[in-house]
Amino acid sequence: MKPAPFEYHAPSTADEAVALLAELGDEAKAIAGGQSLVPMLALRLAALGHLVDLRRLDELRGIRHRDDGTVWIGAGTTQATVQRSDVVRAAVPLLSRATPLIGHFQIRSRGTVGGSLAHADAAAEYPAVALTLDAEMEALSPRGRRTISAERFFDGMWSTALAEDELLTGVNFPSWSGRHGFAIEEFARRSGDFAIAGATVAVGLGADGHLDRCAVGLFGLGPTACRARTTEAALLGTDPAEADADDVGRSATTDLDSVPSDLHGSADYRRRVGAAMVARAWRRAVQEALHG
Ligand code: FAD
Repeated sequence: MKPAPFEYHAPSTADEAVALLAELGDEAKAIAGGQSLVPMLALRLAALGHLVDLRRLDELRGIRHRDDGTVWIGAGTTQATVQRSDVVRAAVPLLSRATPLIGHFQIRSRGTVGGSLAHADAAAEYPAVALTLDAEMEALSPRGRRTISAERFFDGMWSTALAEDELLTGVNFPSWSGRHGFAIEEFARRSGDFAIAGATVAVGLGADGHLDRCAVGLFGLGPTACRARTTEAALLGTDPAEADADDVGRSATTDLDSVPSDLHGSADYRRRVGAAMVARAWRRAVQEALHG
């Protein structure tokens, strides 16, 4: 199938792009790498009168350290650029490790950080990473700029806090100092497929070797990626070497409601896979924090 006809716009600044989105209303959408939007248009799961292409907007691309210790990644930066970045590898290792799990390299060479986050697929890796690291989203609309925490950004299935005429311009990822460990684990039937279930873990150790930071992210296990906050709270302050990884996995996934059930797996199956992924990620992250 082919997409329904649409009008194509290629603004050269982000201000022009949001002005166009405001003027054209719900008939228009931004297009970045097109790796999610184009298949939806081609399958006629979506029909739009106007596409506003972001690819000429250099101001949306780049990766740099900021004075406040965070790493800024422009929304238009491709996943492939993130994968190659030494800055990301050193300062935001969880993001670096998550990237090769996204689709295939052809997809990653066009797909963007902003597209992945704004599309907000419940089984996608980047939303879970952004939540786990408490990333901050930068948004621009004709009303000005604002910052949205990852926690408030993902507000439902394929839904975010962005207004129709608002663009994600960049994301600030905190860079952790001290002794820490990060891991992502997912299960997909074939390499490159969206995960059936996955987990991210980030832990930090205080001077006494006990956990002073702990974040557990889940994806593929609900309408949006989410954090296992009750489990995190129970683990904070404890000695991670004493925690049983399988217990951590079960605890993080037991209370989940709205676990999807579809032809890829029942809710019960996904929950069990999710628990196993949390346990694996927990072991790896703790191992890294303890032994480097
Ligand atoms: P587009 O497709 O251009 O846009 C997607 C949505 O985001 C649209 O609604 C668009 O309006 C909006 N948008 C884009 N940029 C912005 C912005 N700056 N501000 C506001 N809104 C914006 N993804 C995964 O995470 N994991 C996978 O395993 C995975 N596997 C895939 C396998 C296949 C075969 C394919 C085709 C895709 C797969 N993807 C996967 C999706 C891929 O990562 C997409 O690149 C990504 O979801 C969207 O990025 P994009 O730049 O292509 O966005």
